[in-house]
Amino acid sequence: MNMLPDCHLHTPLCKHAAGEPEAYADQAIAKGLPEIAFTDHVPMPAWYDAESRMTESEFPRYRTMIERVRKARPNLAIRFGIEADFVPGTEDFLGKFLASHPFDYVLGSIHTLGDFGFDNERYAAEWSRRDVFTVWQDYFRLVQLLAKTRMFDALAHPDLVKKFGHVPKEDLGPMFQDALACVKEYGLAIEVNTAGLRKKCREIYPSRRLLEIAFDLGIPVVTGSDAHAPSEVGAGFDEAAALLRGAGYREVSRFEKRRRIPCPIS
Ligand code: ZN
Ligand code: FE
Ligand code: FE
Repeated sequence: MNMLPDCHLHTPLCKHAAGEPEAYADQAIAKGLPEIAFTDHVPMPAWYDAESRMTESEFPRYRTMIERVRKARPNLAIRFGIEADFVPGTEDFLGKFLASHPFDYVLGSIHTLGDFGFDNERYAAEWSRRDVFTVWQDYFRLVQLLAKTRMFDALAHPDLVKKFGHVPKEDLGPMFQDALACVKEYGLAIEVNTAGLRKKCREIYPSRRLLEIAFDLGIPVVTGSDAHAPSEVGAGFDEAAALLRGAGYREVSRFEKRRRIPCPIS
């Protein structure tokens, strides 16, 4: 049995996840996971994707919920995190928000390129109007801007643009190299996220190619299932461990009070 932490769990507050946090914790205990972190979708200014996140006024309920599950499951290490969207123009809002709360872990995500919610089923048709390579370029350029803000601990689902199977035929090595050099320079970790196994791309985020480049650059990784239901906690972690070992990794990291703590892949 593998023993990777699951540092990417959602709660019903985001309006598209099911199950109480206690049920997520119970699944982690049943699977023998050493640690979990809740990272629900961050409140954002009202104009940004309000239907898939808690509001700012609901945020205290999130905090209370995590305190409650910590008391209810005292033998499991449970961290208080957030999945924070990087959207140019919202840095002031987000910076103030992140500084105002005692997070253990801040996961930085890109889900939109301008008005194109590229990972949203609702915009699936838009993909056929766009040049796939250009979308990928735009995405990985935004990754660099995300890293430069220094607001985040790790880059979530690093190649989320592949979610629906849109992968350019071009050599992606230089694009990954440029983005990851910046990730490394600004001290960001990257996430190995198993949700891709459950999506149309049928592959962990990131690809083996991207992960090998990250390993060569010495970039730390954090593992997460991106569970939106209790049954998804720790899902695909055997595959994740195999992918990590194949790319050269012998340890993963977890975060506590925004500090990175390495732990071996057993
Ligand atoms: Zn979600
Ligand atoms: Fe996400
Ligand atoms: Fe997520």
